[in-house]
Amino acid sequence: MSTEHNVVTLPSAAHPRDTLGRPLRDLRISVMDRCNFRCPYCMPKETFHDNYRFLKSTERLSFEEIYRLTRVFVGLGVRKVRLTGGEPLLRPNLSELIGELTALEGVQDVALTTNAVLLGQHAAELKANGLHRITVSLDTLDPAIFKRMSGGFAELDRVLEGIQAAVQADLTPIKLNAVIERGLNDHTALDLVDRFRGTGIIVRFIEYMDVGNRNHWSLDRVVPSRELLQRIGERWPLHAVQENYRGEVAERYAFDDGSGEVGFISSVTNPFCGDCSRARLSSEGVFYTCLFANAGLDLRTPLRDGSSDGQLLDLIRNHWQQRGDRYSELRSTLRSGEQPLRKIEMYYIGG
Ligand code: SAM
Ligand code: SF4
Ligand code: SF4
Repeated sequence: MSTEHNVVTLPSAAHPRDTLGRPLRDLRISVMDRCNFRCPYCMPKETFHDNYRFLKSTERLSFEEIYRLTRVFVGLGVRKVRLTGGEPLLRPNLSELIGELTALEGVQDVALTTNAVLLGQHAAELKANGLHRITVSLDTLDPAIFKRMSGGFAELDRVLEGIQAAVQADLTPIKLNAVIERGLNDHTALDLVDRFRGTGIIVRFIEYMDVGNRNHWSLDRVVPSRELLQRIGERWPLHAVQENYRGEVAERYAFDDGSGEVGFISSVTNPFCGDCSRARLSSEGVFYTCLFANAGLDLRTPLRDGSSDGQLLDLIRNHWQQRGDRYSELRSTLRSGEQPLRKIEMYYIGG
């Protein structure tokens, strides 16, 4: 892999803005389309069965290709990188890529989102290679519901051990993402708060989203964040906290007794498209400008056909400058249209 860490030089005034004036700041890279879970809201088992055709390893971007594209994205203003999937820890030697990305000039933050099943064996190595932060997905502490929400594939204890390993490796601040679905795990949400309050681990509740086309989403299964906020606040008084930076996706609330905070990601009831500066790169190298996109820009072909950094930079910049995505703000109008919406699947684009 390249040891050249220089950013592709571009004067900051030339950083592109999309049609709504939004800069490009965050890059979420899906390093693996496969997963060792089958969460029904993301990769329902009936679709992602044993014979499902995932990408071949040659179809996925290599670490060299990911690194090269990230350098170009950094030249366009990206400062934060998140590795995701599918399950990113299924990608062999992931720490090697993390070492390269954290050393890249201009990158201020490298984070990883994982289901944590393999975290116990990887946490120390991830830290040693420079990973800054980790986010673990954990929807409930009830073993039976957890099993169901992972598609029957996981043991809760292994995930909790993975979180403990991340604490020991000091991959902090650790955030826990919990997708809440009405009638499934909403009655267990407060247990998560109870367990992690005062530990430094920040629980964030995510409204169940209509990503992709296969999770049978319906609005009545979404638990609005304000409902959860009220329930949590009745038990442990809370106050709102200022956002850390413009465009932060989670609304943050601190416990009045000083024992930490909780966050709410309310893509359905309180969309945050106005400040969205996130780009996504699929594991096969398609660049998407929205989580709910139905098409993206293939970057793997020009990469493999010998395009220069400057040519790649032009392609990405032009694509960003044409961006007008604000799906969450338009959700109800778009969903009421006559044509069924085609959207890219979450496991593929990276959450
Ligand atoms: N496999 C890793 C994990 O689960 O942490 C990383 C990829 S996963 C697609 C990233 C995040 O997307 C997870 O926190 C998951 O809970 C969230 N997610 C997936 N489908 C979702 C949905 N329909 N609504 C809300 N969040 C979803
Ligand atoms: Fe896998 Fe993460 Fe999707 Fe669950 S949410 S199926 S762990 S990619
Ligand atoms: Fe960004 Fe698209 Fe989500 Fe809006 S819907 S916040 S534009 S990813």
